[in-house]
Amino acid sequence: MQLKLHMVTIEDLVPEGHFLRKLDAVLDLGFVYEETAHLYSRGYGRPPIDPVVLVKYLLVGFLYGIPSERQIEQRIQTDVALRWYLGLDLFDRVPDHSTISQLRRRKPSFRKVFRRLFEEVVRQCIGKGLASGRLAATDSTHVKANASRASEELVEMPESPGSYWERLDAYEEEGLEELERRTGKRRQKRVRQIRKDNRRTKKRVSRTDPEAGHMKRPGKPEGQYYLSHQTVDADHGIILGVTVTPGDVHDSVPYLEHLEQIHKNVIPLQAATADSAYDFPLAHRVLEEQGIDFFVRPQSTHDRTQTELKRDAFPYDEAEDVYLCPNGKKLRARRLYRSASGLFWEYWADRKDCSGCPMREKCLSEMDRHGARKLTDSYFKPSVHRHTVGSGYGRRAPPAPATIRAGQFPPIPCGKTRRPKKRPF
Ligand code: SF4
Repeated sequence: MQLKLHMVTIEDLVPEGHFLRKLDAVLDLGFVYEETAHLYSRGYGRPPIDPVVLVKYLLVGFLYGIPSERQIEQRIQTDVALRWYLGLDLFDRVPDHSTISQLRRRKPSFRKVFRRLFEEVVRQCIGKGLASGRLAATDSTHVKANASRASEELVEMPESPGSYWERLDAYEEEGLEELERRTGKRRQKRVRQIRKDNRRTKKRVSRTDPEAGHMKRPGKPEGQYYLSHQTVDADHGIILGVTVTPGDVHDSVPYLEHLEQIHKNVIPLQAATADSAYDFPLAHRVLEEQGIDFFVRPQSTHDRTQTELKRDAFPYDEAEDVYLCPNGKKLRARRLYRSASGLFWEYWADRKDCSGCPMREKCLSEMDRHGARKLTDSYFKPSVHRHTVGSGYGRRAPPAPATIRAGQFPPIPCGKTRRPKKRPF
């Protein structure tokens, strides 16, 4: 074999139309220096690896679907285009894969760079008209954690109130003032809630990956998983926000913060849609206050009352805010009930009305210990109704544009859509 000597630079070896050249032209990573300046010492230590190289190192791993950092290192060693993108010359040493894992372990705040990178890409998509905020659809997908079930142990930990309870606290204050106006009664101490705040719960935690969570959902695999909650802009399917939680966290828990973050920092949203896992009354109220229409498949509810006269037998009089019982008596809002899952109005009949009522046996359960019928409504029911198409409140989502394909993120009007029945064959 005859050897030839070529005079080339790495610049000559990467074709003009190569994807990484296009990416380099549109994605300015200059912000990485500003974002990571506080993590580097000016006076001590050996010269660091350029933080932009580290970001690009992981970025090419994501872009080319390289599953491990060890393999990313190997690919960069042999792929000229990847070397060029990282700013490495033909004989420069590729950063060791363990640099990345140590960076992750020692400098967790480096993760913020990727959040910024994501926001920068979304900002460019918005600039190009690929996202409008007209309709944002959210769902979660499970991601297997690199941890086996054999690594799990049962750990008792305090149940954190979290932002969901903090929001409920604020609305409870509002509700108690409303109750005082209606009934003239002074508010009571929230002893029950304080007790709940001290609750402890047992969780299956993996010793290998304690940040994952044990997922157990119908129709889903069981084990250590993460849940990736993603919101896409329905116009062109551009992802506007991603939140990752352990696999044992319910979809509704991160939803409001996730959506608010997009609404405030990424793009103002006009309407949001999601499946029934995200249908909880507080979401209707919070999103309404933010001016976001909410279209969600309603959760199926079951009337669990043990009495013969079910809730349907009590029509609601909106003008007076009372329920009318089959005996023509009124059930009025007399109490605000707070539980871990929500905030509720309790409508009570008068005990003297029920005591002599001929329908008492059919109407009262053993639970009605006060001797009067009680009905419960979510405190946020008016907001839920306002988001219900055809409820008379009139707010609707903007029409779906032609770019939404059939079956993709349909704007489902709350309370009006039914799942099509399965064919028997
Ligand atoms: S028991 Fe009370 S609430 Fe029930 S029908 Fe009679 S009066 Fe009305």
